[in-house]
Amino acid sequence: MLGSLQLLQPTTVDEASGALRDFAERGKVYAGGAELLLLMRHGLLQSEILVDIKKIERLHGIACASDALSVGACVTHHILESNPLVRAHAPSFAYAESQVANVRVRNQGTLGGNLCFNDPHSDPGTVLLVHNASVTLGSQRGERQIPLHDFFLDVYETALEPDELMLDVQIPPLPNGMISAYFRLHRFQRPTLGVAAAVKMNHGTIAESRLAVGCVGPKAQRLAELETKLNGSSLRDAKRICAEQKTYLRNMLRPMDDLLGGADYKLYMTGVMLGEALEQVARKDNVRT
Ligand SMILES: Cc1cc2nc3c(=O)[nH]c(=O)nc-3n(C[C@H](O)[C@H](O)[C@H](O)COP(=O)(O)OP(=O)(O)OC[C@H]3O[C@@H](n4cnc5c(N)ncnc54)[C@H](O)[C@@H]3O)c2cc1C
Repeated sequence: MLGSLQLLQPTTVDEASGALRDFAERGKVYAGGAELLLLMRHGLLQSEILVDIKKIERLHGIACASDALSVGACVTHHILESNPLVRAHAPSFAYAESQVANVRVRNQGTLGGNLCFNDPHSDPGTVLLVHNASVTLGSQRGERQIPLHDFFLDVYETALEPDELMLDVQIPPLPNGMISAYFRLHRFQRPTLGVAAAVKMNHGTIAESRLAVGCVGPKAQRLAELETKLNGSSLRDAKRICAEQKTYLRNMLRPMDDLLGGADYKLYMTGVMLGEALEQVARKDNVRT
């Protein structure tokens, strides 16, 4: 049961940030509430004042500029999975959004809430890393933009300051000719493992690749060293290289045992699914050419 709560509904970022500063620990940002209300109901989080940010118009837009697609923090997963701009600009991201939980959670939960909560078992962040996405954070002190890679710090920990809101996510297009895929392993609603790959093929070999893995350790990670190793290799060699990288993957991903899978299982499946994701990208490239 929830105790009595005060609900504030600011209409500007300034107002919301001011409320967070004034109420400090007593106030919490409330977007869709999919995570927040669950935690409060289970007594895992206490709050007296909810700062509902859904009335701030700026947090709801989806707009495409030449350098990036901008998605407001309060856009829901359901809108993202079906929005034509998102599907055209970042199809694997739209697909990852369609895989989140179930239709109830996708209607309720927002992209900003997902990224700010930073549960390791999440989908969108992993794909956004291969797009080199960044996030805009705002408060009464002004705005700043940081790479998503630097926003994720650790399990449930991000670079947000206590009086800051996430305003939007900037998603640059993939380089010309690069094709992406997102692979997800799950037994329950939340993913046990998520793998995103974006690859540019050149006459059957990998010219450039971007790889990211989520759910294995504390946060989603890009695999820059492995990406470099794959350059110039055939699909078959690339799959072999991925399967051989256990030590590198262990060091990078810091696998953890949890309710959704054992550390060794997730690590083993990472190698397998990186190979699957590369194969899917190569298949899409064949269809396109
Ligand atoms: C049953 C269930 C299954 C799920 N399965 C999946 C899954 O398969 N894949 C997946 O990726 N996710 C999954 N999720 C997580 C879900 O996607 C997130 O719960 C949802 O996106 C959170 O968004 P929200 O708007 O409801 O956030 P809220 O619950 O409102 O907020 C979450 C946290 O973020 C903070 N916050 C929210 N928005 C902002 C903002 N703009 N600026 C600053 N702080 C903010 C809040 O203060 C709170 O700490 C699941 C959740 C549930 C309950």
